[in-house]
Amino acid sequence: MPQRIYCRKCGFILYNSQELICPSEILKRFGDECPRCHKTLSFNPQLVSISR
Ligand SMILES: [Zn+2]
Repeated sequence: MPQRIYCRKCGFILYNSQELICPSEILKRFGDECPRCHKTLSFNPQLVSISR
């Protein structure tokens, strides 16, 4: 099952892959900021959603 991580504010998909990865690693790739709405991201269920 794919792992998906997306911005809770605008729904931008930050990560969508079959490969499981540490969510904090993904946030680091984006500089802890959503590229679309520039919301500061943190690995927090309020801010990002993860579905598997
Ligand atoms: Zn966003």
